[in-house]
Amino acid sequence: METHTGNVLVLATGGSIAQTSPDDPTLTGDALLEAIPELRDKFGILVEQMAQVSSPDITAEHWLELAIRINKAAADDQIQGIVVTHGTDTLEETAFFLNLIVKSDKPVVIVGAMRRPYALGADGAANLHDAVATASCREARGRGVLVVLNSEIHPARDVTKTTFSLDAFKSRDFGPLGQMANGRPIFYRRSERKHTLRSAFPSDLCRLPRVAIVYSHAGVTPDVLEAAAASGYEGIVWAGTGSGSLPKAIRPAATAVVNNGLAFVRASRVNCGYIKRNDEVDDDALGFITADSLNPQKARILLMLSLTQTNDPVKIQRFFDTH
Ligand code: ASP
Repeated sequence: METHTGNVLVLATGGSIAQTSPDDPTLTGDALLEAIPELRDKFGILVEQMAQVSSPDITAEHWLELAIRINKAAADDQIQGIVVTHGTDTLEETAFFLNLIVKSDKPVVIVGAMRRPYALGADGAANLHDAVATASCREARGRGVLVVLNSEIHPARDVTKTTFSLDAFKSRDFGPLGQMANGRPIFYRRSERKHTLRSAFPSDLCRLPRVAIVYSHAGVTPDVLEAAAASGYEGIVWAGTGSGSLPKAIRPAATAVVNNGLAFVRASRVNCGYIKRNDEVDDDALGFITADSLNPQKARILLMLSLTQTNDPVKIQRFFDTH
């Protein structure tokens, strides 16, 4: 049975969970907590406002600031766990970034809402309650960064926003890690891939390399890839059809990308499933990296972090095989 001791630090960033107008998230983290008085009765809670934006406006700078704050909080004996309130559009990206760069086994839980606070059936208060309960739970330690919405607990690596209804967040290939029952988390499995304390990436980064995603379609022509390659990016994620396919018309441009020293990752716009390496494309010979089962937006984050360590596609592939 878990015991609740110590404080939960809630870091607010905005998103629909705090959005009272169609345009802007106006509610502060404190206001979100005031709406759920029983939370403060049950848990010690500290609140800090890190940003006040919709999540499409979240940038790499927000990620780096959150990482610094969370790593500092995780080193504080008074803090048992950390919750980040966040818009749902890019929630999975912030969660995966933190999963790779937070150096602690204390629970870090990212939460949002599919409905605004004053909508009928708003889900924000219940989700925030579940997130705080999870962050204060010993059994949540060492499982990597968690995403809690709709009474489900997902691993940051695998979860993605799939639709606009209350059950939008799915870990499609592998399923959730656990669920909420009677206001407390119950876990059924662990993520095997490296995260937090076992991740290969340092926590003291102050800049991230620029990586672009290029989206493929029937009849795609090389100019889109060439334009991205000429725009100063250090790497490109190809959101290919099917298993990250590379049409014959694109292969010379993709090869030129690698020959010019950029990293090239094959991912899939299908957003699930494992990319078969050296199957239809000779990835080893061409110096391509494959995204394993990461969707393009997650592959972009892992490539950004990988490029802080090495430009060698063989070494980068090892990061993709293990994280
Ligand atoms: N526009 C919102 C965002 O900040 C959507 C949401 O939070 O559900 O991502």
